[in-house]
Amino acid sequence: MCGRRLIVTQSPAEIRRILVVGGGIAGWSAATALARTVRGRASIGVVETDEDLGEPLAIACRPDAAEFHAMLGLDEASILRGAQGAYSLGERMIGFGGEGAAYFRPFADLGAPLDGASFHQLLLRRRRQGRPEVADAYSLNAVAAELGRFAKPGPNERSVLSTLRYGFNLDGRRYAAGLRAFAESLGVTPLRGALAKAEATATGIAAVVLEGGERLEADLFLDCTGPASRLLGEALAVPVESWAADLPFDSQAETLVPEAASSRAFNVSEAAAWGWRRDTPLQGAVARRIVYASAHLDDAQVLQALPASGAVRRSKLAFGRRRLAWARNCVAIGPSAGSAGPLDLGLTLTHKAIRRLLELFPTLGGYEAARAEFNRRADEEMARVRDAALLPLVLNGRGGEPAWAAARETPQPETLAYRLSLWNSRGGVISFDEEPVPESDWIAVLLGQGPAPRRGDVLAESAMDDAALADRLGAMRRAIRQGAEQMPTHDVFLTRSGAAAGGAGR
Ligand SMILES: Cc1cc2nc3c(=O)[nH]c(=O)nc-3n(C[C@H](O)[C@H](O)[C@H](O)COP(=O)(O)OP(=O)(O)OC[C@H]3O[C@@H](n4cnc5c(N)ncnc54)[C@H](O)[C@@H]3O)c2cc1C
Repeated sequence: MCGRRLIVTQSPAEIRRILVVGGGIAGWSAATALARTVRGRASIGVVETDEDLGEPLAIACRPDAAEFHAMLGLDEASILRGAQGAYSLGERMIGFGGEGAAYFRPFADLGAPLDGASFHQLLLRRRRQGRPEVADAYSLNAVAAELGRFAKPGPNERSVLSTLRYGFNLDGRRYAAGLRAFAESLGVTPLRGALAKAEATATGIAAVVLEGGERLEADLFLDCTGPASRLLGEALAVPVESWAADLPFDSQAETLVPEAASSRAFNVSEAAAWGWRRDTPLQGAVARRIVYASAHLDDAQVLQALPASGAVRRSKLAFGRRRLAWARNCVAIGPSAGSAGPLDLGLTLTHKAIRRLLELFPTLGGYEAARAEFNRRADEEMARVRDAALLPLVLNGRGGEPAWAAARETPQPETLAYRLSLWNSRGGVISFDEEPVPESDWIAVLLGQGPAPRRGDVLAESAMDDAALADRLGAMRRAIRQGAEQMPTHDVFLTRSGAAAGGAGR
């Protein structure tokens, strides 16, 4: 970078200058991961502005975030402490299947296979027999959440406690600031200033110019400017493929609500006529977001739906992807490559893209093969995420509400229609390649809101007789309940693990 060159001795075929544009969560995550891997061989700078361009108030992280943090060498308790984070066992979904209906969407598997039959198929067998089970009672994550408990998975694989899986919620700005400090300690250079323009050539971006006039050259550019996609979208004119045209939910608003009561280790989404309200607990506060159809909720009604004592931030809901996530010498990481829409998979996609970039890290100018594979996998992932985001919306069972009726009519992408046809015929659930959404998540939503499959699964039908099945299910429910009762409360766990924002733990 101009004026901040590193002296390097590597062969000229190596990428020696990497410029990340955008100092949000995606930008600092990418810079940290690059600093860890190409440390000393390339200079890494991050262009950041003073403006508040929008980290979410709370970012809900799925279990895979812990792997990414471990790869970077970040200590989980410190992250939670610094970002006022709360652990999360999943999400309670209220009213999506219909008024009064609710189910838990756990981060872990439901039950366990019995005599070779998939667990959800056994629950479907009970339903067909007119003895429906409450699926949540077979999820340690769900029962623990209901009891206000939390623990990390136990090491004994024979114990039910080993089946726990967890994610966490973090204050978006504090998290970005923590990543920034860590990246700086690894030698990443913050470069203050807003991007004024990028100089695009036939081979890619030659340099970016900041509003103050500083010109920064690099070999490889990472576009982490959020949905605006200033480099890939604007400078390189890679178009966006929108998935939202038929979806009525086009807007969101969020605010932070202080909460003195003990913290919850799960998120809640509750459907209303205009969309849904989403609570993401942190320590000492809850980030409350509404996702809504602007055709069915005007500005005054937004404030009724989201009563707030503090500032309310509004934005349009982005739901779609750039045709290419990597074009020429510019790789988009995070929402600049596309947005998962009304689903908390943004960070999962960001982490996957960063890992993929490291795996395929190119030599100078030798981008072609790496780029093709990067884009192939990015495309697959985004398509899977799109389907997962649409699933609870197209399967909604709400009556007499135009927004939800329109959501049911949203045209289904081929891959989603294929999934649903398999479910409808025999309760089948499949995983495609590059699947960022675990099978357990598809199962939770399909059991919670899906239609009854037309016929039963052969393995589940023949697994054991009805009395034996009832006994085994009863034993499983009791083991799960007892397991949950042994766990500490979420607040106690935060304190003991050193993750409580107010203390250093023991
Ligand atoms: C309300 C809301 C809630 C969300 N909740 C979740 C969630 O719970 N879980 C989840 O995984 N994802 C969530 N997301 C998606 C989430 O935003 C991303 O996962 C994550 O924050 C992406 O960070 P980012 O840095 O790429 O993008 P942004 O946060 O949009 O940051 C873009 C950065 O680019 C910089 N920038 C922009 N223009 C310029 C310029 N001209 N010059 C210099 N810098 C520039 C800005 O400074 C900004 O910091 C949510 C998004 C929103 C809007």
